[in-house]
Amino acid sequence: MKRPEEERPLSRLSTQVAQFDVSGKTLLLPRMNPFGSRLLAAAFRAFGVDARVMDTYKGLALGKEFTSGKECFPCQVTLGDVLHHLQGEKERLGAGFAAERYVYFLPEADGPCRFGMYNKYQRLILDRFPDLRAVPIAYLSTSNGYAAGILPASRARYFRRLAYVTVVIADVLERASWRVRPYEAVAGSTDALLEQAVQAMEKLIVEVGPSRDCRRLYRMLERYLAAAAGLLDPKRPRRPRIGLVGEIYLRTHPESNQNLARSIERFGGEVVIASVAEWFNYVTYDRLLRVRSRWRDLVRRPANRGLAPLLRDTIGVLAEHGYQSWRQAQVYRCALRCLDIARDHSVRSLETWLDHNRHFNFAIGTEAALSIGGALAYIHDDYDGIVNVFPFTCMPSTICAAILKPLLHRSQVPYLDASYDGTVQPNRDLALRTFIYQAQQHLEQRLNGGRRL
Ligand code: SF4
Repeated sequence: MKRPEEERPLSRLSTQVAQFDVSGKTLLLPRMNPFGSRLLAAAFRAFGVDARVMDTYKGLALGKEFTSGKECFPCQVTLGDVLHHLQGEKERLGAGFAAERYVYFLPEADGPCRFGMYNKYQRLILDRFPDLRAVPIAYLSTSNGYAAGILPASRARYFRRLAYVTVVIADVLERASWRVRPYEAVAGSTDALLEQAVQAMEKLIVEVGPSRDCRRLYRMLERYLAAAAGLLDPKRPRRPRIGLVGEIYLRTHPESNQNLARSIERFGGEVVIASVAEWFNYVTYDRLLRVRSRWRDLVRRPANRGLAPLLRDTIGVLAEHGYQSWRQAQVYRCALRCLDIARDHSVRSLETWLDHNRHFNFAIGTEAALSIGGALAYIHDDYDGIVNVFPFTCMPSTICAAILKPLLHRSQVPYLDASYDGTVQPNRDLALRTFIYQAQQHLEQRLNGGRRL
């Protein structure tokens, strides 16, 4: 790749990092969770956008080369993915490469941490390459609940709803893999079956997309989960269940977390990772809390001017919250008819685990609220260990570690912090083996009615 130029015009941060109609462009999606990104891309294709999931982790050296080292690790990984992909496209197409055909998709979050800045920062870096300046960055934001401002208004709402269903279906397929793989009778059969399921689901999402006939998606999901249940070897004893919480990208991106879930399985555990839908539900729940707080303000300082927009926002967010709860319950009901995967927690229930804000407060925001509440919910559900997975120096996860460690120590539940920055830690496997040994002891103690062994 050609060396970058030094020019960095700041005005492009608003013109070339924006919400605009991406129809007719090739939308480049960074890969996060292996199934979810593919199904999300299929949802975009169902609405006429040529969306592709980029190869991941192959451009990490580029991502590291063009960052300072102070950035969050997911920022380096996603930057590496897009640089590597566009470099590959240039080599493949030669003179036919036209940067303006592509749009790079990089969502953002408001709030106190750095995720809101990734796309601006990556804009500055892309702009240093003359032949990549014409690749705009499109984003969705938590500030308006991920309203799909990158599609025409007539389709945006329907896309958003289909996208949510694909997120939940992907969560369920991932949960099926963690439930079945450690107990499969034939090694490799779970991965092979679920790969088939994802491919079939991608096609079906594109087919049914605009009609949003979710029943066809559910029927297919049921068929594959019933087949997955058939792969279980009933003679294998149940392993200690390990709940994984932490930063959403790291916990769901196997390359970045050095295949943590599979390592835990290899050492004798069964994993359940906090779902991706949890984050979308949290964004909606957070909007609900804000609307409530506006109502309280209005009651304290009545002003007719604020009433109409507040009513409109309240109805909108209640409808969204209701839709998500309804769809998520539907998908899990289908799944649970065929396979006993782990159920998902509602965000409202996670808030109750914070014990009236004694452990943390949702008003502070960030994923720390979900991770702390999620870890405590796992313990309540008799999990035998908790791993907090995060990028090295991640602010919310560091808060989470500070709160969870003493809490879980008091509850005598094995706990492990696992931070990643792309380097290989020689003692990681040893720490994991020790942790799984403790989790196994915890399981045996639990099955013995709490008696110490
Ligand atoms: S959640 Fe952590 S890794 Fe993600 S942007 Fe915030 S500080 Fe960085």
